[in-house]
Amino acid sequence: MRSSGRAARDRLVDAARRSIAVLAPLHRPLDAPEPDAWRAVERDEPSEPFEDFARAWRRRRRRPAVEVHPLGPFSPSRTSSLDAAVAFLRASLGIEVRSVAAVDLPRPPRHRRRPAPDDADATQVHTGWLTRDVLPTPRSRGVTVIVGVTAADLWPGGAWNYLAGEADQELAIAVCSLHRLGDPGRGARAFRAHLRRTAKLLLHETAHLLALEHCRSVPCALQGSNSRAEADRWPLWLCPECAAKVALIGERTPTARLRALRKLCEEQSLKQEERFLTRSLHQLGI
Ligand SMILES: [Zn+2]
Ligand SMILES: [Zn+2]
Repeated sequence: MRSSGRAARDRLVDAARRSIAVLAPLHRPLDAPEPDAWRAVERDEPSEPFEDFARAWRRRRRRPAVEVHPLGPFSPSRTSSLDAAVAFLRASLGIEVRSVAAVDLPRPPRHRRRPAPDDADATQVHTGWLTRDVLPTPRSRGVTVIVGVTAADLWPGGAWNYLAGEADQELAIAVCSLHRLGDPGRGARAFRAHLRRTAKLLLHETAHLLALEHCRSVPCALQGSNSRAEADRWPLWLCPECAAKVALIGERTPTARLRALRKLCEEQSLKQEERFLTRSLHQLGI
C-alpha cells in the first residue's frame, strides 16, 4: 500500500507531537531502578527522540507489513491466546499483520539445542537457528518483517539462561517464546494473564523491527526487562512518545489508534487496559 502524501504526513506528525504533551500527565516517571533491573544494567543504550523518528518516517515510501509464523505444536488455549495477541498487534500498529498457519517446529540440530539450565525437562532452542535457518526471509514473503512464535524455551547463546524474545534488526526477523508465559488453559484469569504477556512480547519485539528502540522514562511495553518478573511490571500500553511513533507507523492519529485498541481490549475483557485507554481518550478531548 502506498503511503500518504506530504501534507497528510505533516498533519499526522503534528497530531502525534501534540499528543505526547497532552498525555504526559497520565504517566508517572519511574523511580531509580533496582541494581539488577534492565535499566540499571543497560544504562548506556540510547533511546531515539520522537523528532528523529518522525524525520526518518517522513522519508518512508511504503507502509510496512508484518507476517507472524507460529511454530507449534500449541495447545488449543495457547492457539486462542496467540490469535488474540495477533489481533492486538494489528490494532496497536495499524498496519497489515497477517498470520500463517502453524507448523510444527522442526527438531533442532544438536548444537542448536540444550536442556534449560533451570529445568532439565525443557529443551531450549537457539534463537539464531530460528532466525537464520528456520524462518523465511521477509523478502521471500513480500512483507517488511517476520515474527516467529514458538512454545519452546529460547536462549541466544553465551551466558544467558533464557530469553523471552529477540529481534534481529538486520534480518528483520524476531522470535518470541510462549514457554514462560504461563498456562492459558487454567481458566479465564490465566487466559487473560497469558494474553497480556503474549501481546506485550509480540508488540515489543515487532516494534524493535519497525525501528523503535527501548524506552526508559515511564512505564511502557517498550521498556527492557531481564526477567519474567521485570517484564510483568510493564503495562500492555505504550508511553505517549512510543505511542506517537507507533501512530505514525500506522499513519493514524494517536486518537484513532487508541480507539482501535480500546475496542480490542473491550472484546478481550482486558478491563484495566480498557479503563486506561478511555482515560487517555478523555485526556485527548474525546
Ligand atoms: Zn527489547
Ligand atoms: Zn515508551
